[in-house]
Amino acid sequence: MSERRFTEKPDLNPMAVMSLDINHAAMRENRTLFPSTVVTVTADAPDRLLVSGKNNRKIGATVEKGKFKGYGIYCLSLEERATCPTDCEARGFCYGNGMQMARRHRIGDADVFFDRLGFEIVNLLDQHPGLLIRLHVLGDFPSAEYVAFWKDVLDEYPNVACFGYTHRLPQNWGGDEIGDAIQAVKDAHAERFRIRWSNDHGVAMSDSSVILDRLPRGARGPNGELVCPSQTDATACCATCALCWDVPRENIGFIKHGRPSVETEAAAVMEGFRDEPKGLTDTPEGVTRHPEALTNPDTRKVQGIPVQGVKPNTVRADSTPELRMVQPTDLTIESNYQRSLSGKSIKLIRKIVAGWDWAKFKPPVCAESDGGLFVIDGQHTAIAAASHPHVYRIPVMVVRRDEESDRAAAFVSQNTERVQMSPLQIFHAEVVARKPATIEMLKSAIRAGATIPRSPPKKGEEKPGEIVSVGALQHVWAHGKPENFERVLRIAVLSGKAPVNSLLIRGIDLALKRPEDKQTGMPPIADLDDAELAYAVSKIDIDEQSAEVAVESQCSKYDALASLIETYVVDLAEEYSELTKGGASALAIAS
Ligand code: SF4
Repeated sequence: MSERRFTEKPDLNPMAVMSLDINHAAMRENRTLFPSTVVTVTADAPDRLLVSGKNNRKIGATVEKGKFKGYGIYCLSLEERATCPTDCEARGFCYGNGMQMARRHRIGDADVFFDRLGFEIVNLLDQHPGLLIRLHVLGDFPSAEYVAFWKDVLDEYPNVACFGYTHRLPQNWGGDEIGDAIQAVKDAHAERFRIRWSNDHGVAMSDSSVILDRLPRGARGPNGELVCPSQTDATACCATCALCWDVPRENIGFIKHGRPSVETEAAAVMEGFRDEPKGLTDTPEGVTRHPEALTNPDTRKVQGIPVQGVKPNTVRADSTPELRMVQPTDLTIESNYQRSLSGKSIKLIRKIVAGWDWAKFKPPVCAESDGGLFVIDGQHTAIAAASHPHVYRIPVMVVRRDEESDRAAAFVSQNTERVQMSPLQIFHAEVVARKPATIEMLKSAIRAGATIPRSPPKKGEEKPGEIVSVGALQHVWAHGKPENFERVLRIAVLSGKAPVNSLLIRGIDLALKRPEDKQTGMPPIADLDDAELAYAVSKIDIDEQSAEVAVESQCSKYDALASLIETYVVDLAEEYSELTKGGASALAIAS
């Protein structure tokens, strides 16, 4: 087995690999996520550039088979994104995003860099019958001059070979002069310069590698490429595989790997559900599917998702819960772990009793022991049932738990291991539930040109006019007239601010409610037109300035923003009238 310091294999879950947003600093500045790991190579630092493959679980120390058998494998890392073509499709999800410990080498003085490399190669050739150099664990070929260096090395040392991948392409394939240089070395040293083209161009290419977004079902990917056997444990590592340099006729498929994110996974899983053809999934024998569910695009069947790396536990057959109809007063609450009733509890119980609806009823989860039936989850529901004159028996789910500690553990899990609904998700559910006020709010928002997303947008990806605060919507709706509500949103949209958050909504609302200023004789700013107000808002750094004014004036940030709007309206009045004189449209003025 090839010598390696690390053998632990990361779980492959391509759907969960996160991708940096295009506005992320590392994308904008074309650099690694971990700038502190980048070392500019000088005559004496770092101690070495070429690192033995034994330090990389996937590579291995010495080639074990094929034409380079016995060669020492060494790896070189440059800086991802900084040395890569900007049209590389992997820029956002580059696996370097998950390699915070790796050292990246930056070429400072090129001559010094090439001297250092050349010197190391000569030294290493004293220790090995030959060298196989992995170009590059991170980064790509940064320049034609750099490619020429490797040509010189291969010209000079017949027992040196290179293998790796590049997102560069020759110009006749839409690439650049670096791609041409790579092609030239591949032609000159076809056997020893085994650099494969990373095919993210969706065209048939030979001698290439592709990234697989989904776990392949077998040894080959969707376009017949061979899946990297080291990723699937079909072989230990490159040293025991040799495919990439020994078998140019085979394209290689690499299962996407890198920095995982459950958000990305959730989006991919949902994408998978959306791709699932409706109605085709088998409906169990004897079960009639509601016709709407079969055809309605807004439904999806419950189905398993890939849970890579999760080792499912054993579920004992005799531990299956039982559904039982009981009198609510037969149930017991254990105060050691259950909470006491609070004001909020009473409010909830009263609400349940007032609107008892079995569709809104969640059967309490109860643990049975010789001491009785103990409520683990659903105390308020059970008490409400006991309080309702027409509810005699309720269904409960019963599991056997003799120990109080087990019951307490179940209670904690029942009340913590859940994904809370976001206010935005509840808002849209209320729309489907035809809740009048919510529907009116939505209609107003749409008329005002705003959007209300179903779930909170990612930070930095919020769009102008995108409302992210349901709480502020409900507050303004509850404390004002519908026409004022709509006006607040219209001004927020016109201002071009992204997102439309609670500060913006509440600040504009308060500004519109400001009376005439008797001292200055300034009319209520609500008398001004929306575009002028939006223009003023568009010029304010909402979060920063409101926070400053709130501290200075010892007021809420909402009041602070309302004052800022008043101030800016006055300060910008002349500028605004100049703009309107020019006949600029409201939107143009404000945006
Ligand atoms: S296919 Fe083989 S040689 Fe290529 S990367 Fe995978 S393990 Fe290494």
